Amino acid sequence: MLIPLIGVGAAALASAAGYHTMGPTSQFYGRNFSGLARGSRQLALTYDDGPNDPHTGHLLDVLAKHDVRATFFLIGRYVAQRPDLVRRHLEFGNALGNHTWDHPNLIFSTPPSLQEQLEKTSKAIADATGAAPKLFRPPFGGRRPGVFQTARAMGMTPIMWNVTCYDWSDKTNETIERHAFRQIKGGNVILLHDGGHKEFGADRSWTVKATDNLIRKYKDEGYSFVTIPEMMEHRRL
Ligand SMILES: [Zn+2]
Repeated sequence: MLIPLIGVGAAALASAAGYHTMGPTSQFYGRNFSGLARGSRQLALTYDDGPNDPHTGHLLDVLAKHDVRATFFLIGRYVAQRPDLVRRHLEFGNALGNHTWDHPNLIFSTPPSLQEQLEKTSKAIADATGAAPKLFRPPFGGRRPGVFQTARAMGMTPIMWNVTCYDWSDKTNETIERHAFRQIKGGNVILLHDGGHKEFGADRSWTVKATDNLIRKYKDEGYSFVTIPEMMEHRRL
């Protein structure tokens, strides 16, 4: 039985490495924040891959209607293209984070290219808003040793998530909402997208609609929606 056992061990090892490099709540390759203890009445909506026209604007209208603020992890090249959309976040009180310049999987990035990805993006956000971001989220959740340390050395806290809504592939608001309902237990960081990393202008109308419904449902149940910096003030260390 030795050979099958080795096979099982190797498979487990490979899958563990896969989880640590891509798994959203693994702490193995550096400390990161992915939510509060289960049962908290706070929820944090987070949106990646923007800014994006017109869907970021539509999303801001929905958030404003509910008086909710959220956290946006921005792609640097889109920020440089549309700094006006990024400035709108400031009017709404949303929190902003660095999501790299052009969305590479950082598992395969060299230290100099990682540094450049983060620096260019933080500069673009600072140019647009007057302040460099204090949060960072890796594209695809991918990281290896050194990625989070580099972000921290640049003054950014790595932020992951613990609710995945699969809105990059689902094309109805109902399926996006179902993924959220199944995973939300309180204290969650919810991953959604207001843009697409492949091209500017990606259709996120289903995400906008799902956001409207999620906020209505969970506010009715007594939850409050907060930004990541607000949620981190309540974490149990
Ligand atoms: Zn992304």
